[in-house]
Amino acid sequence: MKEQNWDQWFLNNSVGSTINHNLASETTRAAIQEHFAKLSQPYSGASTSEIETKVAQIDICPDQGIPLTKALFDLSQSVLQHSIVVHHPRSIAHLHCAPLIPALAAEQYISATNQSMDSWDQSSAGSFVENRMIEWLCQLYGYSNYGDGVFTSGGTQSNLMGIHLARDHFSQKTWNWNIQQQGLPPKASRLRILCSAIAHFTVQQSAALLGLGSQAVISIPVDKQQRMSISHLKETIDQLLSEGFEPFAIVATAGTTDFGSIDPLTEIAEVAQKHSIWLHVDAAYGGALILSNQESTKLAGISQSDSITVDFHKLFYQPISCGAFLLRDQENFRYIRLHTDYLNPEDDEEQGVPNLVNKSLQTTRRFDALKLLVSLQTLGREQFAKMIETTIDLTQDIAKYLSDHSELEIANTNPEINAIVFRFKGSNLEHSDKKLDEINLQIRQALLQSGSAVIAKTKYNGHVYLKFTLLNPRTKRSDIHSLLEEIVEIGKRLERRTISHEKFK
Ligand SMILES: *Cc1c(COP(=O)(O)O)cnc(C)c1O
Repeated sequence: MKEQNWDQWFLNNSVGSTINHNLASETTRAAIQEHFAKLSQPYSGASTSEIETKVAQIDICPDQGIPLTKALFDLSQSVLQHSIVVHHPRSIAHLHCAPLIPALAAEQYISATNQSMDSWDQSSAGSFVENRMIEWLCQLYGYSNYGDGVFTSGGTQSNLMGIHLARDHFSQKTWNWNIQQQGLPPKASRLRILCSAIAHFTVQQSAALLGLGSQAVISIPVDKQQRMSISHLKETIDQLLSEGFEPFAIVATAGTTDFGSIDPLTEIAEVAQKHSIWLHVDAAYGGALILSNQESTKLAGISQSDSITVDFHKLFYQPISCGAFLLRDQENFRYIRLHTDYLNPEDDEEQGVPNLVNKSLQTTRRFDALKLLVSLQTLGREQFAKMIETTIDLTQDIAKYLSDHSELEIANTNPEINAIVFRFKGSNLEHSDKKLDEINLQIRQALLQSGSAVIAKTKYNGHVYLKFTLLNPRTKRSDIHSLLEEIVEIGKRLERRTISHEKFK
């Protein structure tokens, strides 16, 4: 068989590779630039079925390949055009950030060099870089030299790891039972996890995945500021213990997904310590406050935790995905460590060869630590902090504006980070909550259909509320004021419609 030349398909030092790589980069850059230049709205307004039809028309695997420029151009028409524009000032639904340009540059390094973080012989320099980033993060959150951690795909994985290690640690120390080896112990159905009623759903998900069932998660009520109530936490622990249950983990949230509220970490840590319960802090959202001198006090107590979740693809402005799991006592990674001869033999460890798979639920894993590193280096801590502070200042201004507004009603009058939950209540005091639910749902839908704004909806006290997550430091007061005006206008229109409907009944 004649040898074929594959140079043009892979990065290498041949002319064919250089030409093709330049073409790919240039085409992508041009398509993205054109896309961004044209955008005036955060969304095209296309319906789900319109997009489904366009995507259905994509010829996925033709017998003969088509030119790269054509493939990229065609996809930019069908896909880019109807994507959510994350950098738009009115794209404010979720914890879904505009990515920093330095991180995008790092992404090219990451993909082109394609290091894999599982074993040192697949990421010879990367393993050391990630470990240094973890060391830096441990210091930042106040862990001692015994701290350790690993980059993860995000909060879901980090929360699973925290609860997993807490479970196995408890079982080992209390029952002398090694779950990794022996499976769940007979008494496992007594295990309980405590978190606030508005903690992230992945706490329940983790409990289910870990064989404890979501019933193992006990919700603690929140106070008016949406923070875990300490008195309820103490009462619940006493009650569980008296009934023969084993509360082995408390998950405190530093930045709840809906309200951005931060549980009282210092007080929770005291309770956890008193009962020797593992404290995991889910700081997926609020962890970024640590960079700001002005805001970091809100995280006081976080250093007393046993493990921490922090996401970089939220308030650290990293492209998805990028997160970390931090552990106060590195010894506890032993509950997930397994050795294989081909990847991470035990003698590697003795020789100081870092195989990060020892600390991870993932085997093949991206070198995502690099993009955070490049971002931190490029912006510097002060500018990074300023960016976050800007969004918090904006949020407080908007909260005040909403509190004074006669036709809008805010749920969290004192937002701690940058999420705002509110609803249209109109001027007609006769409206039932049920009617308001409908109007608010329709307001969000109308904004999406026109493509004018991408905002979220949630429930508060059982009713529909709208949510802004103001992550973007480029979002201005005027952007939000004009959006709120638009919301009131739409709300009034819907109000008139429901009233006239009623007249005809
Ligand atoms: C986003 C979030 C998660 C989940 O993290 P992913 O990165 O989406 O997996 C968990 N907890 C909180 C508080 C979050 O905001």
